[in-house]
Amino acid sequence: MLPDRLLRVVQLLSKLPGVGEKTAQRYAIALLSADESVARELGRALAELHDNVRPCAECGNIADVREKGEAAICTICRDSRRDASLLCVVARVQDLFAIEKSGAMRGKYHVLGRLLSPLDGVGREQIGMDRLLERVTSNDVREVLVATPPSVDGEATALLISRELGAHGVQVSRIASGVPHGGDLEFADQITLGRAIEHRRRFSF
Ligand SMILES: [Zn+2]
Repeated sequence: MLPDRLLRVVQLLSKLPGVGEKTAQRYAIALLSADESVARELGRALAELHDNVRPCAECGNIADVREKGEAAICTICRDSRRDASLLCVVARVQDLFAIEKSGAMRGKYHVLGRLLSPLDGVGREQIGMDRLLERVTSNDVREVLVATPPSVDGEATALLISRELGAHGVQVSRIASGVPHGGDLEFADQITLGRAIEHRRRFSF
């Protein structure tokens, strides 16, 4: 029903997460109906995306390439007000964004890209354990906060990091996992509730 070129746009848009065919069609038609400059600018921005946006050479966050041929360094790594002695290890860039949004992290980050999963052939080498070790030991990092998800792979990754960095005298901490804010205890799953009790902390007055 759709003209070929519009259909092509619909097909490409529906490759995005959370975008079904109907939504993709709505987006494509919206782009066609909006001012011509929107679609042209979007096309240009997309065409330049892979050339100019890369993983940060230091932490793995998403970063702009400032000068052609130069390594990309993200805004967090460039920020000298950040506490460089505290490093937060996350699995994915999206997790970094979520923690940043909380405003609770004043240190820097390290994005692993994936979690340890021996059954799928993802070992210490694949998660870049040596790179993390090298970064921590050569930058005078004093505390590493492991913020991997509370899943089997997330816990295994946290354990490996804590063992390897601990052997180098680095203090390794793990994010506490507990009951969601505003949530009822009766709806929390057993593991979450069990961990919340296990990692209880003393009230300070
Ligand atoms: Zn960075």
